[in-house]
Amino acid sequence: MKLNVTIQPLFLISRFKTLPDPTKFLKLENVTYSWSGPSFFELKIADLNLARSETVLLLGESGSGKSTLLSLICGTIVAESGCVNVAGTDLSALSAGQRDRFRAEKIGLIFQQFNLLPFASVQDNILLPLKFAPERRNRLRDLKLEAKRLCHDLGLHDGAMSSKACNLSVGQQQRVAAARALIGSPPFIIADEPTSSLDAATQATFLELLFAQSRTHGTTLLMVSHDARLANQFDRVINMEDIAQTTRGAIV
Ligand code: ADP
Ligand code: MG
Repeated sequence: MKLNVTIQPLFLISRFKTLPDPTKFLKLENVTYSWSGPSFFELKIADLNLARSETVLLLGESGSGKSTLLSLICGTIVAESGCVNVAGTDLSALSAGQRDRFRAEKIGLIFQQFNLLPFASVQDNILLPLKFAPERRNRLRDLKLEAKRLCHDLGLHDGAMSSKACNLSVGQQQRVAAARALIGSPPFIIADEPTSSLDAATQATFLELLFAQSRTHGTTLLMVSHDARLANQFDRVINMEDIAQTTRGAIV
């Protein structure tokens, strides 16, 4: 009985092994990265997998390498060894320009510091990633209407669309950053401590929008937080200390 169950998948795997495994949307294998300079920090991740559509909360202490890990997954920094595979693409096989285009198309990013263009309008900030992501743009019929819908869903009033980003409150800027990440439904949303500056009610609305996006579009969500109380809302929780080996110290 056990033999039948195991032989069949092995046969299938060997026939189709060149195809990416759809259950492994994100795969990291034996990845290392080190920041040099006055405070040396090395991060090693032996194995990390995320399934397509999975919602995952990454918990860890400040300085444990969470943002470094997200940068490796986004391809803004490149692993010194090992493999980072996102949606079937090995990031180390791409040039810097290809990685930028891949990121714009596949990943909606919400940064801890928002990274909005301060003097651009809310609408222009939200539409910005579509300039570099034709697939995301082509999913939409009316770009401005979609920007407005996202703002509305996130609790930003319509009048805010023409405001400059720098004239918004911190909580409002956070919501613009979320709308910018969600527009055009990229398959992967990565959020680095996005709820840290939101009050409890706004945080709940914000998270619900991310989960709704995952349910409707099969989006994979990886969110970093230090707030373990959010854990039961996610499919899975990963603790940094369980997946990462770190070394730190001054270089002499
Ligand atoms: P976390 O997001 O968990 O707080 P980070 O990944 O931001 O952790 O940082 C982990 C360590 O990596 C820091 O303590 C620092 O030593 C180093 N580090 C992070 N970013 C940089 C950088 N841009 N330049 C140099 N060192 C950095
Ligand atoms: Mg961080």
